[in-house]
Amino acid sequence: PDRVGQPRKRVLLAKPRGYCAGVDRAVVTVEKALETYGPPVYVRKEIVHNRHVVETLSERGAIFVDDTDEVPEGALVIFSAHGVSPEVHADAKRRNLRTIDATCPLVTKVHQEAKRFARDDYDILLIGHEGHEEVEGTAGEAPEHIQLVDTAEDAAQVEVRDPAKVIWLSQTTLSVDETMERVAQLRERFPELQDPPSDDICYATQNRQVAVKAMAGECDLVLVVGSQNSSNSKRLVEVALQAGARAARLIDYAHQIDEDWLAGVDTVGVTSGASVPDILVMQVLRWLSERGWGEVEEITTANEKIAFALPRELRKDLVR
Ligand code: SF4
Repeated sequence: PDRVGQPRKRVLLAKPRGYCAGVDRAVVTVEKALETYGPPVYVRKEIVHNRHVVETLSERGAIFVDDTDEVPEGALVIFSAHGVSPEVHADAKRRNLRTIDATCPLVTKVHQEAKRFARDDYDILLIGHEGHEEVEGTAGEAPEHIQLVDTAEDAAQVEVRDPAKVIWLSQTTLSVDETMERVAQLRERFPELQDPPSDDICYATQNRQVAVKAMAGECDLVLVVGSQNSSNSKRLVEVALQAGARAARLIDYAHQIDEDWLAGVDTVGVTSGASVPDILVMQVLRWLSERGWGEVEEITTANEKIAFALPRELRKDLVR
């Protein structure tokens, strides 16, 4: 329905959205490696979980592989932003691969915490999604001390050796609210459960969730630009729904928007996951504008200024 003083069709655009510092660094790492050493440059797993990024880098000569055993002896391989376990580093060394580690420094921080608490013989409950690359990498730092807690059932069933020596850590890209529920559930069973020394859910994940929450209540539909395997993008869909959006959809590209989704819709919210280049969001805005949703208001909840230096292994070869 028409609201007095408000346009009938409008778009609310979340800010912050899109690229975080860790994704930017990882993508630039592959680009610079291609420029500096020439193709092919091998990349273990998707450098970041975004279809467009992976396809664009593939066209420029990056070869994405599932594991290091697919990389020819002596070749250059880049490890993705999600991090790898020590076993993967050891394997690469064994096979004489040249490596550049594009693991996000905020993921490395969680690895350091895992190592430290394992060394102190804690039971570590790692809250995260089963099968996600980041969780595999972190758990690989101390497999004998870490147990994964994904679902509510996991939290109800997990056992520890000494309830006085237990800490939770988490994947960097979870829903903040859902993680706190899981922690509360664990703390009921283990009252002495310790918190991580600092937030494991990263600033970018948190900021994008705060931004989508701020606008979701006013939105009939929230479009989240992001790939199906992107954890933080999927969480944005869930958070939008929990915060009152009538509907929320995850799309890789503007052309995937179904016109039927817009039936009876006044306000469309738009945001994007941390691995999404803003050009894809601009294409969504154009698509909407061509159908009458031309008025765009940016809803800003934070200004991000974080940037990370490129990996040392690459920096030393860059022409200054
Ligand atoms: Fe790093 Fe967070 Fe971006 Fe992941 S989402 S790459 S942890 S800044």
